[in-house]
This record gives sequence, structure tokens and C-alpha cells, in this order.
Amino acid sequence: MKDKFLKPFLRHLLVILIIIFYYFLLHILEVTCLIRGTTNIPCPGCGSTRAMLALLRGDFKGYIYYHPGAILILLTVFVAFHSESLFKVINKKTVNIFIIINSLIIIIIYFVRLMFSIIP
Ligand SMILES: [Zn+2]
Repeated sequence: MKDKFLKPFLRHLLVILIIIFYYFLLHILEVTCLIRGTTNIPCPGCGSTRAMLALLRGDFKGYIYYHPGAILILLTVFVAFHSESLFKVINKKTVNIFIIINSLIIIIIYFVRLMFSIIP
């Protein structure tokens, strides 16, 4: 019983600590993205944090400008990280197809943004 709640709690805590460490590292290196900061090439997620912040402010135009697929990325990462739990209520194949289709859409959005150089 104790293990049932402790394991997921520790996993979430680990992910939160990794995210805090990542943003701490970005702050120290004075870059907004490790991939873009080291290679000068934007990654598929570049602009997603600013897009989500714009959305939280109610600025939908800003959201589209920074990253039109930010919600999709967030949703896909969430589903991928919680797929084991989702398999209990949703068919495993459905969850995997959802992740694959969303990933393909994210890659298409990435290449379109790269081709038109519209990644801020
Ligand atoms: Zn990036």
C-alpha cells in the first residue's frame, strides 16, 4: 500500500528536480535552450515555454507565434510519461498510436517552422 503511492511520488519528484536542474543550467549558461545554445539550431520544442506563458496570459496570437504545437508537446509528453498508468484504462495500442501520431505532427510543425525560419 505504502509503495503504491511512494513510487509515483518519487518518480514525479525526480522529474520535477530534473526540470529545475535543467532551468538552473539554462540560467547559468545564459541560453534559452541547450540544443539551440550549443548548436545554434532550434530544437522541436523551442518557443514552447514562451508559448505556454503567452497562453496563460490569454495571448493566443503570442502562443501561435512562439510555438503552435506547445500544447500538443505537453500533452504527448504527459501521456508518454503516464502511459503505464493509462494502459490500465485505455488500450495500449490506442495510447501508442496517440503518441506516434502526435510525435509526427510535432515533427511536421518543426520542419515547417524550420523551412520558413519562423522559430523565434
Ligand atoms: Zn529548443
